[in-house]
Amino acid sequence: MNKKYFIETYGCQMNKSDSELMQLSMDSEGFTEAADKNEADIIIYNTCSVRKNAEDRAYSNIRESKAHMRRKNGIVVASGCMAQRIGQKFIDDKIADLVIGPYTSPRIGQIVKNYIKGGRQQLFISQEKDKFTERLNPGLISSKDSTPWHKWITITHGCENFCTYCIVPYVRGPLISFSSGHILDFIKKSAMSGVMEITLLGQNVNQYGQDNKDIPFYELLDRASLINGIEKINFLTSHPKDFDHRIVDVISSRGNIADSIHLPLQSGSDSILQAMNRKYSVEHYLKIIEKIKSTLESYFISTDIIVGFPGETEKDFLETLNVIKQVGYDEIFTYAYSPRLGTTASGLENQVPEETKKERLSELIKAHREAAHAKLKTFVGNQQRIIIERVSKKDDNKVMGRTFLNHPAVMDGNINDIGRIYNIKITELKGATFIAEKI
Ligand code: SF4
Repeated sequence: MNKKYFIETYGCQMNKSDSELMQLSMDSEGFTEAADKNEADIIIYNTCSVRKNAEDRAYSNIRESKAHMRRKNGIVVASGCMAQRIGQKFIDDKIADLVIGPYTSPRIGQIVKNYIKGGRQQLFISQEKDKFTERLNPGLISSKDSTPWHKWITITHGCENFCTYCIVPYVRGPLISFSSGHILDFIKKSAMSGVMEITLLGQNVNQYGQDNKDIPFYELLDRASLINGIEKINFLTSHPKDFDHRIVDVISSRGNIADSIHLPLQSGSDSILQAMNRKYSVEHYLKIIEKIKSTLESYFISTDIIVGFPGETEKDFLETLNVIKQVGYDEIFTYAYSPRLGTTASGLENQVPEETKKERLSELIKAHREAAHAKLKTFVGNQQRIIIERVSKKDDNKVMGRTFLNHPAVMDGNINDIGRIYNIKITELKGATFIAEKI
């Protein structure tokens, strides 16, 4: 077909994985990847709907591209969550030629090809389960990216939890778990082709298998850890309401699962958790933390917090602050609540002023930094294992990687170290990064 395409990806890792699938589909239909947008005949925007400013940015980039592409008779495609949410608007505003939702995006190559041949359908946002394309495309095993030793492996698609602030269930549809047989086979083949680190990916990995009566997540994790050649397993994201304590036991009994758990708290106030429809209490959450701390010798716990959810009082906020101090997180991702049209919380009247959100955010970050820094300092002098990810941006004679607890560390090295595992000794702490030496 001799036409070039370029994919611009916004948002989460799930979108990045979808972009890989789209790339495979485009390549298999004979399109070639362009070095940048200017060189492309087809520009694909893989959009994100989680935050309003990400949507605004994507919308204006798509509009700008369409103006540019009109002059060269090129094609603009809107895909991803925003395509699912406001698909028809892209067509009505005449700023995208094709709109392709997450269910159909793995077939994008075929769709674009048909359109070039004169096909008239522009909108592809069906969410019928039988149209759901298999995401564990075997082609992904051999597709090489900038980290060939690592694979993101999507184990579920969609979410049906309807947290009141979140747009995901509306745009990604209900939970679909992929068969454990397919997943394990994919991991085995990936390991045979040189992959040694994997990240199992889902909106809520703890719900894995609930829809198709497959094995539970802790068992999937255990079976994956027994595959030859897999040195490190990460998983994202956990929902406290479905978190099975046996996950921690599996981590503790295997040497190749990162002792690193991302457990979104969102709020430390029970009444706000209830308003968010999170379906767990702070007490339940803290029991999981207790299990992690009492079972694992060393651990890395990270979380997501939303401040300024509608109705959040100073007392609610102080309760969140208390949990932050009590848990002593290694990393927190903080967000000021931003209403998403179409979600239940966006219609609530008791919205928190922006100024208050800002103040609460900075107080939270300050409390976390102090606790995290004190914990990080205790690692100096320790030995750890590390996978080297890249050459340092500041110094060609230094390399950077993540330890098996997922802390970033820098040490002497060069390009040949990328993708290799080393035992290291941590000698110093600079900001939140360890300085280390190979043992
Ligand atoms: S669990 Fe809640 S926050 Fe996470 S994707 Fe589902 S609805 Fe959104």
